[in-house]
Amino acid sequence: MKKNELEALVRENIRSLCPYSTARDEYQGSLGVFLDANESPWPTGYNRYPDPHQKALKEQISAIKGLPAENIFLGNGSDEAIDLLFRVFCEPGRDNAVAISPSYGMYAVAADINDIRMRNVPLGADFALPAEALLEACDSRTKLLFLCSPNNPTGNAFDPAALEALVRSFPGIVVLDEAYADFSAKGSLRAKVLEYPNLVILQTLSKAWGLAGLRLGMAFADEYIIRLMSMVKYPYNINQATQELVSKALRTPVGDKIAETIAQRGRIAAALPAYPFVRRVYPSDANFLLVQVDDADALYAHLLADGIIVRNRNRVLLCAGCLRITIGLPSENDRLLQSLDSYEKGDIHR
Ligand code: PMP
Repeated sequence: MKKNELEALVRENIRSLCPYSTARDEYQGSLGVFLDANESPWPTGYNRYPDPHQKALKEQISAIKGLPAENIFLGNGSDEAIDLLFRVFCEPGRDNAVAISPSYGMYAVAADINDIRMRNVPLGADFALPAEALLEACDSRTKLLFLCSPNNPTGNAFDPAALEALVRSFPGIVVLDEAYADFSAKGSLRAKVLEYPNLVILQTLSKAWGLAGLRLGMAFADEYIIRLMSMVKYPYNINQATQELVSKALRTPVGDKIAETIAQRGRIAAALPAYPFVRRVYPSDANFLLVQVDDADALYAHLLADGIIVRNRNRVLLCAGCLRITIGLPSENDRLLQSLDSYEKGDIHR
């Protein structure tokens, strides 16, 4: 996609937006006396506004992810980035978006909030990427295509070459959500944002990095898209505490925890088929397993009564009879298997 084609996808009011400029955008360097932002002068640790551009944090993430800071957007969770993409590209009541289904629920909710019609395209057999059907679902008002790999709730990762082919042939913005990519041997396509101006990759610190409570989502994309998202976001969208705590947490690698989660995933996936009520354990590239059982509602109720909460996906498209089970600590996974043992023996909690 060429630069002018990318610009044509942006909402006109956003293309011409004059964004809020914060008090401290007007100078560079370090000054000592801050009388510009109507803050309290007494130190509390948080009496100053945080850096609206998150420069230090972006440099740190740039080094970890191997992409220039100009290609990185930081949001209050990836959910902020999802909402901003609608606000930047989609004209309410007129444009539409396409997504694979089933997938992460926020794409459809953000579409509804922004008054954008979502066209859901079911996954193929064994949750395969429905590449042709996705392209057929598009028309001249389709601005965004949402893909998720590894996909939530199905757990499978798509072939990177097939995803890249879609980016090449889709005439709008392809949003590829890689929230679970750290758990997948298929890796990430984020380096491709330097090649394809219409590709946006979403990642998050909520999963492998263990920082869901701090709310830090990332979007990687062409500089132009990052600038637009930054213009539309709230000026101080990442608070000071999050910037500091994330910066500290990023200094401790999480490779061992990821490896342990993958090992535990293998252990649970191997143990589940032995239960007579388990019909199918779907292959997973993520930190959860989608499991089809005889009576999902009954098993869900049993686990809940036993103090274990999983996600009931029984009423989700293509997921009839399915529970989505997150991989926990080894001791928590032991508890899950014990509870399944008692369900099998008929010691059913109701
Ligand atoms: N994308 C996917 C695919 C998810 O499953 C989730 C959360 N379950 C998110 C994004 C949300 O991530 P964040 O915590 O960064 O908002």
